[in-house]
Amino acid sequence: MSLQSPVAALKGVGSRVAEKLARLGLERVEDLYFHLPLRYQDRTHAVALGSLRPQLEVLVQGRVEHAEVVQRRRRALLVHLTDGTGAITLRFFHFGSTQRSQLARGQALRAFGEVRSGPQGLEMVHPEYQLVATTDGAEAEPTLTPVYPTTEGLGQAVLRRLVLQARAYGAPAEWLPAELLPQHLRYELRAALDLLHAPPPDADLAALAAGRHPAQRRLAFEELLAHQLSLARLRAQMRETAAPPLPRGGALAQRFCAALPFALTDAQRRVIGEISADLAQSRPMLRLVQGDVGSGKTVVALAACLQAVEAGYQAALMAPTELLAEQHYRNAAGWLEALGIRVAWLSGRLRPAAREQCLAELADGTAQIAIGTHALFQESVNFARLGLVVIDEQHRFGVHQRLALREKAQGTGLHAHQLVMTATPIPRTLAMTAYADLDYSVIDELPPGRTPVTTVAIPDTRRPEVVERIRAAVGAGRQAYWVCTLIDESEALQCEAAEVTYAQLAEALPDVRVGLVHGRMKPADKEAAMSAFKRGDIDLLVATTVIEVGVDVPNASLMIIENAERLGLAQLHQLRGRVGRGATASSCVLLYHPPLGYTAKRRLQALRKTSDGFEIARLDLEIRGPGELLGTRQTGMAQLRVADLVRDTDLLAQVQQAARTLWAQQPAAAEALIRRWLGGAERYAQV
Ligand code: ADP
Ligand code: MG
Repeated sequence: MSLQSPVAALKGVGSRVAEKLARLGLERVEDLYFHLPLRYQDRTHAVALGSLRPQLEVLVQGRVEHAEVVQRRRRALLVHLTDGTGAITLRFFHFGSTQRSQLARGQALRAFGEVRSGPQGLEMVHPEYQLVATTDGAEAEPTLTPVYPTTEGLGQAVLRRLVLQARAYGAPAEWLPAELLPQHLRYELRAALDLLHAPPPDADLAALAAGRHPAQRRLAFEELLAHQLSLARLRAQMRETAAPPLPRGGALAQRFCAALPFALTDAQRRVIGEISADLAQSRPMLRLVQGDVGSGKTVVALAACLQAVEAGYQAALMAPTELLAEQHYRNAAGWLEALGIRVAWLSGRLRPAAREQCLAELADGTAQIAIGTHALFQESVNFARLGLVVIDEQHRFGVHQRLALREKAQGTGLHAHQLVMTATPIPRTLAMTAYADLDYSVIDELPPGRTPVTTVAIPDTRRPEVVERIRAAVGAGRQAYWVCTLIDESEALQCEAAEVTYAQLAEALPDVRVGLVHGRMKPADKEAAMSAFKRGDIDLLVATTVIEVGVDVPNASLMIIENAERLGLAQLHQLRGRVGRGATASSCVLLYHPPLGYTAKRRLQALRKTSDGFEIARLDLEIRGPGELLGTRQTGMAQLRVADLVRDTDLLAQVQQAARTLWAQQPAAAEALIRRWLGGAERYAQV
């Protein structure tokens, strides 16, 4: 028997318990050793009753002063405990007669629970308790008590026993050479684990609670390393596959750029060059292009598509929403068809005949560029010679969808090149960790002539003032957005709210031409409203957050965001990015419903202070944590057990270094680490 035996080898693990453990991802004995506590309870000493404060979770002891059953709203047994320094009431709602007679005056007992303030002073509701002979405290727990992550029907006591057994099986293998660890974290693995399962009474509880104890950081380092290794392996596997080399001809791309009504920024040029070099290779490109809202990612994507077309291949451009896909289609079709290129449009809402035609053109290669939503992924879609896949606003898609599209190149027997574009500004270290399977380019410059957006936060009690502001702006020839948001509500409710607001604003502003777009409208109506707004035939566009990504109307220079306090920072930044695209000074009004909570206040302050996407990303990371920032399911990072990307950011550079060294020098150890930390749950397992 070894740490590698199945959990069933442990005493007390039958099929029922094994199944529950499996739900926690615990399959082998070693997994239990690595199942780390969420937090700790201190049962190492009893706290004097006179020094209790609400919210402390503590061990107390004393003698029963008296016990009584009271009948208020609910029948309850109240046990008054004293220890000479103070008193506390233990309150039980469920109790039997044995319990009642045991808890009689004079009985000594020890109880563990959370202190709360009750109607008659401090109390504990349903504490765990134990009758004792004396209250000298000699038998308190020798170590802090771990509280483990668990699942329904699996109690802490059972888990604690099993972990204890697992730890008796011996030391887990050291796969990580000590010299790869930061100097101050050179802990022996076993020592770190043992400390975390059973911290001594004098352990630094505050550090443990904050996840900053060196033993935790030692394990966090190893965990981050395992993730990094798994991504590196995935990347290596992908690199081994073949892709069609798309040589840099450039004539087509040059004609395209020459026809644009503006000159490319240096950043756009640089990134186009990076992509172009990748595409010429015979292994698939996997590149993430990150550029703040309005940095001009679309042109960069189209230039890449043209390189594929020029080499005789097809390119597919996928956007996360119908609206955005439509917009890309309209822009691209205009620009590209002038160059004699056939662009096909595929959305889930096409009529059968149009869809058939589109599918036929993609399958026989007539259509050189396909633009659409995730409808492009569907099995019925076949490409004749797909050479490049571009995914816009990557954060809306999961890794799996991304990989599914990659498979679409099967027609050629090769893998398509992949370009992923995102406006979600991710701090570089985080991006390198979360997207380590991708190369990374940044468009770190906005086109010239943009004026910064002035942002103000106004309580919704002053809504009439805001409405006046729209009247004035429209009077001055400007256009405005009014964004309706309802978080956690169904799309249907959102659309309804937008319709109500639309009606109210249309009534309040009779001289203003008001339009409406939301997700539930017929595509044709939506498109009509959008293009009317673009042409300037509509002054005020009331919309749901469907306009969050990518919509581009340079003359719109005022944006009102309703219920701004309910949105995340990144989303607000995206929305705000819809204005400030032209030469006029733009403003954004964050309308909130007071009172503002602490987090909401910080978010709105951050937005007023800066419009730098990277700074916003950094603040967002601080306020929300990385899981949400990246989209929880998208990266395995949200499932980190010990590490925390925000807290442990300082480790990332060294983790990356260690990953390279380990792959080069000890690939078997690298594989073992991946197995240990990602186990069967290794993401992209199907690749
Ligand atoms: P995003 O990066 O947010 O997707 P877009 O590609 O939608 O940005 O570009 C935003 C706007 O800027 C569009 O109107 C686009 O035509 C314009 N644009 C792009 N590049 C330049 C440039 N180099 N100079 C001026 N305008 C540009
Ligand atoms: Mg865009």
